[in-house]
Amino acid sequence: MTGKGLMISVSGPSGVGKGTIINEVRKLFPECKHSISVTTRAPRGEEQDGVEYYFRTKEEFEKLLSEGEILEYDKYVDNYYGTPATPLIEKSNNGFDVLLDITIAGSLALKKKFPQAVTVFILPPSFAQLEERLKGRGTESEELVAKRLAKAREEVLSAEKFDYVVVNDDLQTAVDSIVSIMKAEKLKYDRQSGIEKTL
Ligand code: 5GP
Repeated sequence: MTGKGLMISVSGPSGVGKGTIINEVRKLFPECKHSISVTTRAPRGEEQDGVEYYFRTKEEFEKLLSEGEILEYDKYVDNYYGTPATPLIEKSNNGFDVLLDITIAGSLALKKKFPQAVTVFILPPSFAQLEERLKGRGTESEELVAKRLAKAREEVLSAEKFDYVVVNDDLQTAVDSIVSIMKAEKLKYDRQSGIEKTL
């Protein structure tokens, strides 16, 4: 682990507020790098290739996969999303902290490959609140909300496989919890190995 940056992934069921939490954490740790994923979904709004994502065709994605360039990947709403291996490893080896916004299965796969990665699971305060949030978005049909809720009930069972669990009851408290996790993880001896010899 010596000299290596912190690799932290944040995952949770759809509608849990993960994106908002991650944006706030990023504002507080501007030096923390993004892991820019490759996706087969189309860009939304102002999204630019190489900034939010690398936008690729299904064939291009499959080629990267077969070349071993994708460290972990998952399918989400009919599109592939994957973490490019080389940039992540290089950033970490160069001592940069990297935050990954990936699915639950993605975090579990990352942890298998890099046991030193820190995984965080965001839980809703209750399923009733999750349902309210999903309905509140107003973008999804009742059927889709019910589908997402059923999936969330299944997904929360994976929380036990994560290093940390944060309940998103209140945005600021959830952000503070992730900041605390990052600060404590960065103070681990293994991440500062040999520091005492440099005094
Ligand atoms: P969106 O299309 O809303 O940007 O992302 C959809 C989902 O894909 C989010 O839950 C996001 O965390 C996840 N995701 C984005 N990039 C990756 C990736 O590289 N690997 C995995 N496993 N999930 C990803």
